[in-house]
Amino acid sequence: MKRFSGKTVIITGSSSGIGRATAILFAKQGAQVTITGRDAEKLEDTKKVILKAACKPHDLNIVVANLTDPSGLDEIVKSTLDKFGKIDILVNNAGANIADGTTNTDQSIELYHRTFQINFQAVVEMIKKTKNHLINTKGEIVNVSSVAGDSQALAATPYYSSAKAALNQYTRCVALDLIQYGVRVNSVSPGVVSTGFLGAMGLPDDAKGKVESFMASNKNCIPEGVFGKPNDIAEVILFLADRKRSSYIVGQSIIADGGTSLVTGMQAYDIQDMI
Ligand code: NDP
Repeated sequence: MKRFSGKTVIITGSSSGIGRATAILFAKQGAQVTITGRDAEKLEDTKKVILKAACKPHDLNIVVANLTDPSGLDEIVKSTLDKFGKIDILVNNAGANIADGTTNTDQSIELYHRTFQINFQAVVEMIKKTKNHLINTKGEIVNVSSVAGDSQALAATPYYSSAKAALNQYTRCVALDLIQYGVRVNSVSPGVVSTGFLGAMGLPDDAKGKVESFMASNKNCIPEGVFGKPNDIAEVILFLADRKRSSYIVGQSIIADGGTSLVTGMQAYDIQDMI
């Protein structure tokens, strides 16, 4: 028997990156999965990999939907229930550091609303829409946050960081509410991971490569010295969604960042090099 046999999972943002890797792992472990995103072609790529990894077509549900559109949210939930009859696990993974060319306190209020809508409000709405179904199955919710939401400040992108900080607190509040009904809520906070994330911020591929190698080779960015891979985060998501392995973890965020959040600029340098 596979680890998630008989479980139905919704993974938002599974047309790319961390969400795609998570959907593939769940499918390999026997789950019925709903994959979703706005880009039908990228979802088709996720579908191909999942079917190649031995998932049967009737265990896969594909929904092209925008999470900032109420009808999109409804369609993800409705089509999952129509196809599989229940929801055991909700992974709120979709998110983006939306770029419009502005940074810091010059970022517009319009960008603030868009950033909070996908990174925070969409999670709030998905949880409200699936809550009763998850109570029925005594299910699990895993939110994907970011180290950007922790206590180190990222001055250039205040709205993205603040939306993830709000998500962290929301995870704790909802976890405390829903555990009384047997539903666990947790989150994972990735550091930098090689996905479509930088591309979605408008960086071309060669610039993305430069950013990744700069960060990997600077110990004040990533002490472990490697840029994260989608599977590094997907494995944590599966752990938090697996009651047999993480049943006593409630309302926590697991940081997976190669040590990024441990360093300050001061710690990154050897004192001998300063004197
Ligand atoms: P990707 O850009 O590769 O994936 C983002 C996913 O979110 C895509 O599937 C995209 O689908 C979906 N998405 C974005 N906006 C919407 C929307 N309005 N409606 C529906 N789906 C949407 O990035 P990652 O895999 O890296 O991102 C996954 C999560 O990880 C995010 O929450 C991100 O904030 C978080 N994270 C990522 C880090 C990194 O360095 N990569 C670091 C820390 C956190 P589509 O394009 O098809 O709409």
